[in-house]
Amino acid sequence: MTILNAQSKTFEIHVPVVVVGAGATGLTAALAARDGGADVLLLERDSRPMGSTSMSQGNIAAAGTKSQRENGVEDSGERFAADIVALTRGETDAGLARAYADASGPTVDWLVEKHDIPLSLDTDWGAMLGHSVMRIHATPTRTGLELMTCLTNAISAAGVDLITDAHVVDVYAEKDGTVRGIKFERPDGSFEDVGCDALILATCGFGGNRSMVEKFIPEMAEALYHGHEGNEGEGIQWGMKLGAATADMTAFQGLGALAEPSRVLVHYAIVLQGGIIVNSKGERFTDESIDISGMGRKVTAQDDHIAWFIYDKERHDFVTKYVEYQETMEVGAVREAGSLKELAEIAKIPADVLEATVDDCYAMHRGEKEDSHGRDFPSVPILSGPPWYGVRVCGALFHTQGGLVIDKNAQVCREDGTRLPNLFAGGGTARSTSGPSDWGYIPAAGLFTAVTQGRLAGMAAAELVQSGKKAAAE
Ligand SMILES: Cc1cc2nc3c(=O)[nH]c(=O)nc-3n(C[C@H](O)[C@H](O)[C@H](O)COP(=O)(O)OP(=O)(O)OC[C@H]3O[C@@H](n4cnc5c(N)ncnc54)[C@H](O)[C@@H]3O)c2cc1C
Repeated sequence: MTILNAQSKTFEIHVPVVVVGAGATGLTAALAARDGGADVLLLERDSRPMGSTSMSQGNIAAAGTKSQRENGVEDSGERFAADIVALTRGETDAGLARAYADASGPTVDWLVEKHDIPLSLDTDWGAMLGHSVMRIHATPTRTGLELMTCLTNAISAAGVDLITDAHVVDVYAEKDGTVRGIKFERPDGSFEDVGCDALILATCGFGGNRSMVEKFIPEMAEALYHGHEGNEGEGIQWGMKLGAATADMTAFQGLGALAEPSRVLVHYAIVLQGGIIVNSKGERFTDESIDISGMGRKVTAQDDHIAWFIYDKERHDFVTKYVEYQETMEVGAVREAGSLKELAEIAKIPADVLEATVDDCYAMHRGEKEDSHGRDFPSVPILSGPPWYGVRVCGALFHTQGGLVIDKNAQVCREDGTRLPNLFAGGGTARSTSGPSDWGYIPAAGLFTAVTQGRLAGMAAAELVQSGKKAAAE
Protein backbone atom coordinates (compact mmCIF):
# COMPACT_ATOMS: atom_id res chain seq x y z
CA MET A 1 0.00 0.00 0.00
CA THR A 2 2.36 2.65 -1.29
CA ILE A 3 2.66 5.73 -3.44
CA LEU A 4 4.47 4.75 -6.64
CA ASN A 5 6.47 7.22 -8.68
CA ALA A 6 4.42 8.21 -11.72
CA GLN A 7 7.34 9.76 -13.59
CA SER A 8 7.72 8.15 -17.01
CA LYS A 9 4.83 5.77 -16.22
CA THR A 10 2.39 5.25 -19.08
CA PHE A 11 -1.04 3.68 -18.68
CA GLU A 12 -2.67 1.44 -21.26
CA ILE A 13 -6.05 2.18 -19.72
CA HIS A 14 -6.97 5.72 -18.75
CA VAL A 15 -10.25 6.98 -17.29
CA PRO A 16 -10.71 10.67 -16.36
CA VAL A 17 -12.24 10.04 -12.90
CA VAL A 18 -11.40 6.98 -10.79
CA VAL A 19 -13.33 6.36 -7.58
CA VAL A 20 -12.01 3.84 -5.04
CA GLY A 21 -14.64 2.14 -2.87
CA ALA A 22 -18.30 1.49 -3.76
CA GLY A 23 -20.17 2.40 -0.59
CA ALA A 24 -22.59 5.32 -0.31
CA THR A 25 -19.73 7.81 -0.79
CA GLY A 26 -18.20 6.19 -3.85
CA LEU A 27 -21.52 5.44 -5.52
CA THR A 28 -22.77 9.00 -4.99
CA ALA A 29 -19.44 10.46 -6.13
CA ALA A 30 -19.54 8.33 -9.28
CA LEU A 31 -23.12 9.43 -10.03
CA ALA A 32 -22.24 13.11 -9.58
CA ALA A 33 -19.09 12.87 -11.71
CA ARG A 34 -21.09 11.16 -14.45
CA ASP A 35 -23.80 13.81 -14.21
CA GLY A 36 -20.97 16.34 -14.59
CA GLY A 37 -20.08 14.78 -17.95
CA ALA A 38 -17.00 12.79 -16.92
CA ASP A 39 -16.28 9.16 -17.70
CA VAL A 40 -15.97 7.36 -14.39
CA LEU A 41 -14.51 4.06 -13.20
CA LEU A 42 -15.52 2.78 -9.78
CA LEU A 43 -13.30 0.14 -8.17
CA GLU A 44 -14.49 -2.08 -5.31
CA ARG A 45 -12.45 -4.71 -3.49
CA ASP A 46 -15.41 -7.00 -2.72
CA SER A 47 -17.27 -9.17 -5.24
CA ARG A 48 -20.44 -7.27 -4.45
CA PRO A 49 -20.56 -3.67 -3.20
CA MET A 50 -21.77 -3.77 0.39
CA GLY A 51 -19.54 -1.72 2.69
CA SER A 52 -20.68 -0.34 6.02
CA THR A 53 -23.49 1.31 4.05
CA SER A 54 -25.30 -2.01 3.60
CA MET A 55 -24.90 -2.80 7.32
CA SER A 56 -26.45 0.54 8.26
CA GLN A 57 -30.06 1.50 8.90
CA GLY A 58 -29.87 3.72 5.84
CA ASN A 59 -30.81 6.88 7.74
CA ILE A 60 -29.56 10.09 6.13
CA ALA A 61 -29.69 13.45 7.90
CA ALA A 62 -30.37 16.29 5.48
CA ALA A 63 -31.77 19.80 5.78
CA GLY A 64 -34.16 21.75 3.58
CA THR A 65 -35.43 18.81 1.53
CA LYS A 66 -38.68 18.73 -0.43
CA SER A 67 -39.83 15.83 1.75
CA GLN A 68 -39.35 17.94 4.88
CA ARG A 69 -41.39 20.75 3.35
CA GLU A 70 -44.15 18.30 2.33
CA ASN A 71 -44.29 17.25 5.99
CA GLY A 72 -44.45 20.84 7.17
CA VAL A 73 -40.90 20.84 8.56
CA GLU A 74 -39.02 24.11 8.18
CA ASP A 75 -35.31 23.55 8.08
CA SER A 76 -32.16 24.97 6.57
CA GLY A 77 -28.44 24.33 6.27
CA GLU A 78 -27.93 27.13 8.76
CA ARG A 79 -30.09 25.40 11.38
CA PHE A 80 -28.56 21.95 10.75
CA ALA A 81 -25.03 23.37 11.03
CA ALA A 82 -25.97 25.16 14.27
CA ASP A 83 -27.21 21.81 15.69
CA ILE A 84 -23.93 20.12 14.68
CA VAL A 85 -21.81 22.87 16.22
CA ALA A 86 -23.86 22.81 19.45
CA LEU A 87 -23.60 19.00 19.80
CA THR A 88 -19.85 19.06 19.19
CA ARG A 89 -19.50 21.88 21.76
CA GLY A 90 -17.94 24.01 19.06
CA GLU A 91 -15.19 21.47 18.40
CA THR A 92 -15.85 20.92 14.71
CA ASP A 93 -15.07 23.25 11.82
CA ALA A 94 -18.19 25.43 11.75
CA GLY A 95 -17.59 26.70 8.20
CA LEU A 96 -17.30 23.20 6.78
CA ALA A 97 -20.28 21.95 8.80
CA ARG A 98 -22.29 24.78 7.23
CA ALA A 99 -21.08 23.99 3.72
CA TYR A 100 -22.01 20.29 4.01
CA ALA A 101 -25.29 21.04 5.81
CA ASP A 102 -26.21 23.50 3.01
CA ALA A 103 -25.42 20.84 0.41
CA SER A 104 -27.28 18.03 2.21
CA GLY A 105 -30.86 18.93 1.20
CA PRO A 106 -30.03 19.44 -2.49
CA THR A 107 -28.14 16.12 -2.40
CA VAL A 108 -31.13 14.17 -1.11
CA ASP A 109 -33.47 15.94 -3.58
CA TRP A 110 -31.06 15.17 -6.43
CA LEU A 111 -30.90 11.48 -5.44
CA VAL A 112 -34.70 11.36 -5.38
CA GLU A 113 -35.45 13.37 -8.51
CA LYS A 114 -32.54 12.62 -10.80
CA HIS A 115 -31.68 9.09 -9.72
CA ASP A 116 -34.99 7.65 -8.51
CA ILE A 117 -33.77 6.79 -5.02
CA PRO A 118 -36.99 6.70 -2.96
CA LEU A 119 -35.82 8.70 0.05
CA SER A 120 -38.32 10.46 2.26
CA LEU A 121 -38.48 12.00 5.71
CA ASP A 122 -38.84 9.40 8.47
CA THR A 123 -41.33 11.04 10.82
CA ASP A 124 -40.83 8.29 13.45
CA TRP A 125 -37.49 9.81 14.28
CA GLY A 126 -38.77 13.10 15.59
CA ALA A 127 -36.53 16.00 16.58
CA MET A 128 -34.08 14.49 19.00
CA LEU A 129 -30.54 13.68 20.02
CA GLY A 130 -29.17 16.96 18.71
CA HIS A 131 -31.51 17.43 15.74
CA SER A 132 -33.76 20.40 16.53
CA VAL A 133 -36.22 19.37 13.79
CA MET A 134 -37.11 16.13 11.99
CA ARG A 135 -34.45 15.67 9.28
CA ILE A 136 -33.72 11.97 8.98
CA HIS A 137 -34.49 10.47 5.57
CA ALA A 138 -34.60 6.84 4.51
CA THR A 139 -35.82 4.48 1.81
CA PRO A 140 -39.10 2.58 2.46
CA THR A 141 -37.67 -0.41 4.36
CA ARG A 142 -35.24 1.84 6.29
CA THR A 143 -32.30 -0.44 5.62
CA GLY A 144 -28.84 0.29 4.32
CA LEU A 145 -29.14 -2.74 2.08
CA GLU A 146 -32.06 -1.16 0.23
CA LEU A 147 -30.15 2.12 -0.07
CA MET A 148 -27.18 0.25 -1.54
CA THR A 149 -29.39 -1.60 -4.02
CA CYS A 150 -30.95 1.68 -5.17
CA LEU A 151 -27.54 3.36 -5.52
CA THR A 152 -25.99 0.47 -7.45
CA ASN A 153 -29.01 0.38 -9.78
CA ALA A 154 -28.60 4.13 -10.27
CA ILE A 155 -24.92 3.92 -11.26
CA SER A 156 -25.64 1.23 -13.79
CA ALA A 157 -28.50 3.32 -15.25
CA ALA A 158 -26.14 6.31 -15.40
CA GLY A 159 -23.43 4.39 -17.29
CA VAL A 160 -20.78 4.29 -14.58
CA ASP A 161 -18.29 1.43 -15.02
CA LEU A 162 -17.91 -0.65 -11.88
CA ILE A 163 -15.18 -3.24 -11.43
CA THR A 164 -15.60 -5.49 -8.42
CA ASP A 165 -12.94 -7.84 -6.99
CA ALA A 166 -10.56 -4.94 -7.56
CA HIS A 167 -8.56 -4.18 -4.45
CA VAL A 168 -6.70 -0.93 -5.03
CA VAL A 169 -3.27 -1.34 -3.48
CA ASP A 170 -1.12 1.55 -4.73
CA VAL A 171 -1.46 5.08 -6.07
CA TYR A 172 0.79 6.55 -8.79
CA ALA A 173 1.67 10.19 -8.15
CA GLU A 174 4.13 12.92 -9.11
CA LYS A 175 6.41 14.55 -6.54
CA ASP A 176 4.02 17.49 -6.15
CA GLY A 177 1.20 15.13 -5.16
CA THR A 178 -0.56 15.06 -8.54
CA VAL A 179 -2.18 11.62 -8.86
CA ARG A 180 -1.68 9.87 -12.21
CA GLY A 181 -3.30 6.52 -11.58
CA ILE A 182 -3.80 3.49 -9.38
CA LYS A 183 -2.82 -0.18 -9.21
CA PHE A 184 -5.35 -2.80 -8.21
CA GLU A 185 -5.03 -6.45 -7.32
CA ARG A 186 -7.31 -9.25 -8.54
CA PRO A 187 -8.27 -12.20 -6.31
CA ASP A 188 -5.88 -14.43 -8.36
CA GLY A 189 -2.95 -12.20 -7.33
CA SER A 190 -2.58 -10.41 -10.69
CA PHE A 191 -2.31 -6.63 -10.87
CA GLU A 192 -3.74 -4.01 -13.23
CA ASP A 193 -2.98 -0.30 -13.63
CA VAL A 194 -5.41 2.46 -14.57
CA GLY A 195 -4.43 6.07 -15.25
CA CYS A 196 -6.69 8.97 -14.23
CA ASP A 197 -6.93 12.76 -14.12
CA ALA A 198 -8.71 12.87 -10.75
CA LEU A 199 -8.94 10.36 -7.94
CA ILE A 200 -11.75 10.13 -5.38
CA LEU A 201 -10.99 8.15 -2.22
CA ALA A 202 -14.13 6.53 -0.80
CA THR A 203 -12.62 3.64 1.15
CA CYS A 204 -14.36 4.61 4.42
CA GLY A 205 -12.51 4.83 7.74
CA PHE A 206 -10.05 2.63 9.61
CA GLY A 207 -12.30 0.56 11.88
CA GLY A 208 -11.09 -2.64 10.18
CA ASN A 209 -7.43 -1.80 10.87
CA ARG A 210 -6.61 -2.88 14.44
CA SER A 211 -3.30 -1.08 14.63
CA MET A 212 -4.80 2.24 13.51
CA VAL A 213 -7.63 1.85 16.06
CA GLU A 214 -5.06 1.10 18.79
CA LYS A 215 -3.07 4.17 17.77
CA PHE A 216 -5.87 6.71 17.36
CA ILE A 217 -8.77 5.40 19.50
CA PRO A 218 -7.07 3.33 22.22
CA GLU A 219 -10.20 3.30 24.43
CA MET A 220 -11.99 1.22 21.75
CA ALA A 221 -9.06 -1.09 21.00
CA GLU A 222 -10.72 -3.90 22.98
CA ALA A 223 -14.22 -3.21 21.67
CA LEU A 224 -15.85 -5.18 18.92
CA TYR A 225 -15.70 -3.55 15.47
CA HIS A 226 -19.11 -3.81 13.83
CA GLY A 227 -18.45 -2.07 10.54
CA HIS A 228 -17.28 -3.43 7.19
CA GLU A 229 -14.11 -5.49 7.69
CA GLY A 230 -12.59 -4.30 4.42
CA ASN A 231 -12.38 -0.71 5.66
CA GLU A 232 -8.72 -0.75 6.61
CA GLY A 233 -7.96 2.94 6.30
CA GLU A 234 -6.07 2.65 3.01
CA GLY A 235 -7.52 5.84 1.56
CA ILE A 236 -6.51 7.79 4.65
CA GLN A 237 -3.01 6.33 4.50
CA TRP A 238 -2.51 7.19 0.80
CA GLY A 239 -3.68 10.71 1.53
CA MET A 240 -1.25 11.04 4.43
CA LYS A 241 1.62 9.75 2.28
CA LEU A 242 0.75 12.34 -0.35
CA GLY A 243 1.07 15.08 2.26
CA ALA A 244 -2.58 15.50 3.26
CA ALA A 245 -3.55 16.75 6.70
CA THR A 246 -5.77 14.62 8.95
CA ALA A 247 -8.07 15.76 11.74
CA ASP A 248 -10.24 14.35 14.52
CA MET A 249 -8.63 10.91 14.21
CA THR A 250 -9.85 10.16 17.75
CA ALA A 251 -13.52 10.54 16.72
CA PHE A 252 -15.89 7.64 16.16
CA GLN A 253 -19.46 6.44 16.34
CA GLY A 254 -20.03 3.74 18.91
CA LEU A 255 -23.22 2.00 19.90
CA GLY A 256 -24.24 -0.05 22.90
CA ALA A 257 -27.03 -1.82 21.07
CA LEU A 258 -25.61 -4.90 19.44
CA ALA A 259 -27.39 -8.07 20.55
CA GLU A 260 -24.95 -10.42 22.23
CA PRO A 261 -23.86 -12.97 21.08
CA SER A 262 -25.80 -12.80 17.78
CA ARG A 263 -24.44 -9.32 16.93
CA VAL A 264 -27.67 -8.16 15.36
CA LEU A 265 -28.50 -4.47 15.78
CA VAL A 266 -31.25 -3.75 18.32
CA HIS A 267 -33.49 -0.82 17.43
CA TYR A 268 -32.70 2.14 19.68
CA ALA A 269 -36.28 3.45 19.50
CA ILE A 270 -36.92 0.94 22.31
CA VAL A 271 -34.84 3.12 24.61
CA LEU A 272 -35.85 6.48 23.17
CA GLN A 273 -39.49 5.50 23.70
CA GLY A 274 -38.95 4.75 27.40
CA GLY A 275 -36.99 1.49 27.67
CA ILE A 276 -34.06 1.37 30.06
CA ILE A 277 -30.58 -0.17 30.01
CA VAL A 278 -29.13 -1.95 33.04
CA ASN A 279 -25.82 -3.69 33.68
CA SER A 280 -25.38 -7.22 34.99
CA LYS A 281 -25.87 -5.89 38.54
CA GLY A 282 -29.36 -4.76 37.49
CA GLU A 283 -28.46 -1.06 37.78
CA ARG A 284 -28.79 1.76 35.30
CA PHE A 285 -25.43 3.46 34.77
CA THR A 286 -26.17 6.50 32.60
CA ASP A 287 -28.93 8.53 30.93
CA GLU A 288 -29.43 6.02 28.14
CA SER A 289 -31.59 8.39 26.10
CA ILE A 290 -28.86 10.84 25.16
CA ASP A 291 -25.54 10.38 23.39
CA ILE A 292 -26.35 7.10 21.62
CA SER A 293 -22.87 7.01 20.15
CA GLY A 294 -21.27 7.32 23.60
CA MET A 295 -23.17 4.20 24.71
CA GLY A 296 -20.63 2.06 22.85
CA ARG A 297 -17.92 3.12 25.29
CA LYS A 298 -20.22 3.07 28.34
CA VAL A 299 -21.57 -0.46 27.73
CA THR A 300 -18.05 -1.72 26.97
CA ALA A 301 -16.98 -0.36 30.38
CA GLN A 302 -19.55 -2.52 32.28
CA ASP A 303 -18.75 -5.93 33.82
CA ASP A 304 -18.24 -8.51 31.07
CA HIS A 305 -18.72 -5.61 28.60
CA ILE A 306 -22.47 -6.28 28.42
CA ALA A 307 -25.80 -4.71 29.42
CA TRP A 308 -29.52 -5.46 29.03
CA PHE A 309 -32.26 -3.50 27.29
CA ILE A 310 -35.35 -3.80 29.53
CA TYR A 311 -38.78 -2.84 28.16
CA ASP A 312 -42.44 -3.78 27.93
CA LYS A 313 -44.99 -4.91 25.33
CA GLU A 314 -45.86 -1.39 24.18
CA ARG A 315 -42.24 -0.72 23.16
CA HIS A 316 -41.92 -4.23 21.74
CA ASP A 317 -44.99 -3.65 19.55
CA PHE A 318 -43.74 -0.19 18.50
CA VAL A 319 -40.50 -1.53 17.02
CA THR A 320 -41.91 -4.74 15.52
CA LYS A 321 -42.48 -2.87 12.23
CA TYR A 322 -38.71 -2.44 11.75
CA VAL A 323 -36.93 -5.11 9.67
CA GLU A 324 -34.02 -4.79 12.06
CA TYR A 325 -36.12 -5.69 15.11
CA GLN A 326 -37.73 -8.56 13.23
CA GLU A 327 -34.19 -9.89 12.73
CA THR A 328 -33.43 -9.43 16.44
CA MET A 329 -36.47 -11.58 17.19
CA GLU A 330 -35.61 -14.15 14.53
CA VAL A 331 -32.18 -14.79 16.04
CA GLY A 332 -33.78 -15.34 19.44
CA ALA A 333 -32.14 -12.33 21.08
CA VAL A 334 -35.44 -10.90 22.38
CA ARG A 335 -36.30 -12.64 25.66
CA GLU A 336 -39.87 -12.44 26.97
CA ALA A 337 -40.82 -13.03 30.60
CA GLY A 338 -44.02 -13.03 32.66
CA SER A 339 -42.44 -11.02 35.49
CA LEU A 340 -39.35 -8.97 36.22
CA LYS A 341 -38.19 -11.77 38.51
CA GLU A 342 -38.36 -14.24 35.63
CA LEU A 343 -36.55 -11.80 33.30
CA ALA A 344 -33.86 -11.29 35.94
CA GLU A 345 -33.37 -15.07 36.10
CA ILE A 346 -32.98 -15.26 32.32
CA ALA A 347 -30.53 -12.36 32.40
CA LYS A 348 -28.68 -13.65 35.49
CA ILE A 349 -29.29 -10.29 37.16
CA PRO A 350 -30.17 -9.99 40.90
CA ALA A 351 -34.00 -9.83 40.78
CA ASP A 352 -34.33 -7.52 43.80
CA VAL A 353 -31.97 -4.96 42.23
CA LEU A 354 -33.77 -5.06 38.87
CA GLU A 355 -37.15 -4.62 40.59
CA ALA A 356 -35.78 -1.72 42.62
CA THR A 357 -34.36 -0.11 39.45
CA VAL A 358 -37.76 -0.32 37.69
CA ASP A 359 -39.54 0.96 40.85
CA ASP A 360 -37.15 3.90 40.82
CA CYS A 361 -38.13 4.66 37.20
CA TYR A 362 -41.80 4.70 38.25
CA ALA A 363 -41.01 7.11 41.09
CA MET A 364 -39.14 9.36 38.67
CA HIS A 365 -42.12 9.26 36.29
CA ARG A 366 -44.37 10.38 39.09
CA GLY A 367 -41.95 13.21 39.76
CA GLU A 368 -41.21 11.91 43.27
CA LYS A 369 -37.49 11.86 42.63
CA GLU A 370 -34.89 13.08 40.16
CA ASP A 371 -32.82 10.68 38.10
CA SER A 372 -29.23 10.80 39.36
CA HIS A 373 -28.15 10.25 35.71
CA GLY A 374 -30.31 13.15 34.52
CA ARG A 375 -32.91 11.33 32.37
CA ASP A 376 -36.19 13.17 31.96
CA PHE A 377 -38.53 10.24 32.80
CA PRO A 378 -41.81 12.21 32.82
CA SER A 379 -41.25 13.00 29.10
CA VAL A 380 -41.35 9.35 27.96
CA PRO A 381 -44.15 6.79 28.18
CA ILE A 382 -44.13 4.77 31.39
CA LEU A 383 -43.07 1.08 31.22
CA SER A 384 -45.98 -1.19 31.97
CA GLY A 385 -45.07 -4.87 32.06
CA PRO A 386 -45.75 -7.75 32.33
CA PRO A 387 -44.90 -9.14 29.94
CA TRP A 388 -41.35 -7.83 30.13
CA TYR A 389 -38.73 -8.01 27.42
CA GLY A 390 -34.95 -8.03 27.56
CA VAL A 391 -32.09 -8.11 25.04
CA ARG A 392 -28.48 -8.69 26.09
CA VAL A 393 -26.26 -6.16 24.29
CA CYS A 394 -22.60 -5.31 23.94
CA GLY A 395 -20.85 -2.09 22.93
CA ALA A 396 -19.12 -1.74 19.59
CA LEU A 397 -17.14 0.60 17.40
CA PHE A 398 -19.32 1.24 14.34
CA HIS A 399 -17.25 3.58 12.26
CA THR A 400 -14.42 6.03 12.65
CA GLN A 401 -15.09 9.72 12.11
CA GLY A 402 -11.63 11.22 11.67
CA GLY A 403 -9.82 11.31 8.37
CA LEU A 404 -8.36 13.41 5.60
CA VAL A 405 -8.95 17.14 5.82
CA ILE A 406 -11.05 18.21 2.85
CA ASP A 407 -12.44 21.57 1.79
CA LYS A 408 -16.03 22.50 0.99
CA ASN A 409 -15.71 20.82 -2.42
CA ALA A 410 -14.28 17.63 -0.83
CA GLN A 411 -10.81 18.32 -2.25
CA VAL A 412 -8.04 17.00 -0.01
CA CYS A 413 -5.94 19.64 1.80
CA ARG A 414 -2.36 19.71 3.09
CA GLU A 415 -1.36 20.90 6.58
CA ASP A 416 -0.70 24.39 5.24
CA GLY A 417 -4.25 24.61 3.84
CA THR A 418 -3.24 24.26 0.18
CA ARG A 419 -5.02 21.61 -1.88
CA LEU A 420 -3.59 18.47 -3.37
CA PRO A 421 -3.99 19.04 -7.13
CA ASN A 422 -6.47 16.30 -8.10
CA LEU A 423 -7.30 14.27 -4.99
CA PHE A 424 -10.78 14.19 -3.44
CA ALA A 425 -12.24 12.25 -0.51
CA GLY A 426 -15.48 11.89 1.37
CA GLY A 427 -17.54 9.85 3.81
CA GLY A 428 -15.55 7.69 6.19
CA THR A 429 -12.25 8.58 4.49
CA ALA A 430 -12.60 12.28 5.29
CA ARG A 431 -12.83 14.12 8.56
CA SER A 432 -16.49 14.18 9.54
CA THR A 433 -18.41 16.88 11.40
CA SER A 434 -18.41 15.05 14.76
CA GLY A 435 -15.56 16.84 16.55
CA PRO A 436 -12.83 14.89 18.30
CA SER A 437 -14.73 12.19 20.21
CA ASP A 438 -17.82 9.94 20.21
CA TRP A 439 -20.26 12.34 21.88
CA GLY A 440 -20.34 14.74 18.92
CA TYR A 441 -21.90 12.25 16.50
CA ILE A 442 -25.30 13.57 15.46
CA PRO A 443 -27.63 10.73 14.35
CA ALA A 444 -27.37 9.82 10.67
CA ALA A 445 -24.22 11.90 10.20
CA GLY A 446 -22.36 8.97 8.64
CA LEU A 447 -24.57 8.83 5.58
CA PHE A 448 -25.16 12.61 5.60
CA THR A 449 -21.44 13.14 5.04
CA ALA A 450 -21.11 10.08 2.78
CA VAL A 451 -23.70 11.19 0.21
CA THR A 452 -23.09 14.94 0.56
CA GLN A 453 -19.29 14.85 0.40
CA GLY A 454 -19.51 12.09 -2.21
CA ARG A 455 -21.63 14.31 -4.44
CA LEU A 456 -19.41 17.35 -3.85
CA ALA A 457 -16.30 15.28 -4.68
CA GLY A 458 -17.88 13.91 -7.87
CA MET A 459 -19.00 17.34 -9.04
CA ALA A 460 -15.60 18.93 -8.34
CA ALA A 461 -13.65 16.06 -9.94
CA ALA A 462 -15.81 16.25 -13.09
CA GLU A 463 -15.31 20.01 -13.27
CA LEU A 464 -11.55 19.60 -12.88
CA VAL A 465 -11.23 17.03 -15.66
CA GLN A 466 -13.61 18.92 -17.95
CA SER A 467 -11.68 22.17 -17.51
CA GLY A 468 -8.40 20.28 -18.11
CA LYS A 469 -9.84 18.91 -21.36
CA LYS A 470 -10.97 22.36 -22.42
CA ALA A 471 -7.57 23.89 -21.64
CA ALA A 472 -5.82 21.13 -23.61
CA ALA A 473 -8.09 21.79 -26.60
CA GLU A 474 -7.36 25.55 -26.60
C1 LIG B 1 -24.33 -1.16 11.88
C2 LIG B 1 -24.19 0.24 11.36
C3 LIG B 1 -25.31 1.05 11.28
C4 LIG B 1 -25.19 2.34 10.78
N1 LIG B 1 -26.32 3.10 10.61
C5 LIG B 1 -26.20 4.33 10.08
C6 LIG B 1 -27.36 5.10 9.77
O1 LIG B 1 -28.49 4.64 9.85
N2 LIG B 1 -27.17 6.37 9.32
C7 LIG B 1 -25.92 6.90 9.12
O2 LIG B 1 -25.81 8.06 8.74
N3 LIG B 1 -24.82 6.17 9.33
C8 LIG B 1 -24.93 4.90 9.76
N4 LIG B 1 -23.81 4.14 9.91
C9 LIG B 1 -22.56 4.66 9.37
C10 LIG B 1 -22.56 4.56 7.84
O3 LIG B 1 -22.85 3.22 7.48
C11 LIG B 1 -21.20 4.99 7.28
O4 LIG B 1 -20.87 6.25 7.77
C12 LIG B 1 -21.27 5.06 5.75
O5 LIG B 1 -21.79 3.85 5.24
C13 LIG B 1 -19.91 5.31 5.17
O6 LIG B 1 -20.01 5.22 3.77
P1 LIG B 1 -18.67 5.01 2.94
O7 LIG B 1 -19.05 4.96 1.51
O8 LIG B 1 -17.66 6.02 3.35
O9 LIG B 1 -18.12 3.58 3.42
P2 LIG B 1 -18.59 2.10 3.06
O10 LIG B 1 -20.03 2.01 2.82
O11 LIG B 1 -18.00 1.21 4.08
O12 LIG B 1 -17.87 1.84 1.66
C14 LIG B 1 -16.47 1.75 1.56
C15 LIG B 1 -16.16 0.74 0.46
O13 LIG B 1 -14.79 0.85 0.10
C16 LIG B 1 -14.30 -0.46 -0.19
N5 LIG B 1 -12.84 -0.42 -0.06
C17 LIG B 1 -12.12 -0.18 1.04
N6 LIG B 1 -10.81 -0.18 0.74
C18 LIG B 1 -10.72 -0.44 -0.60
C19 LIG B 1 -9.62 -0.58 -1.50
N7 LIG B 1 -8.35 -0.44 -1.10
N8 LIG B 1 -9.89 -0.86 -2.80
C20 LIG B 1 -11.17 -1.01 -3.24
N9 LIG B 1 -12.25 -0.88 -2.43
C21 LIG B 1 -12.01 -0.59 -1.11
C22 LIG B 1 -14.99 -1.33 0.86
O14 LIG B 1 -14.98 -2.69 0.49
C23 LIG B 1 -16.38 -0.70 0.89
O15 LIG B 1 -17.25 -1.34 -0.02
C24 LIG B 1 -23.91 2.84 10.40
C25 LIG B 1 -22.78 2.03 10.50
C26 LIG B 1 -22.91 0.73 10.95
C27 LIG B 1 -21.70 -0.13 11.01
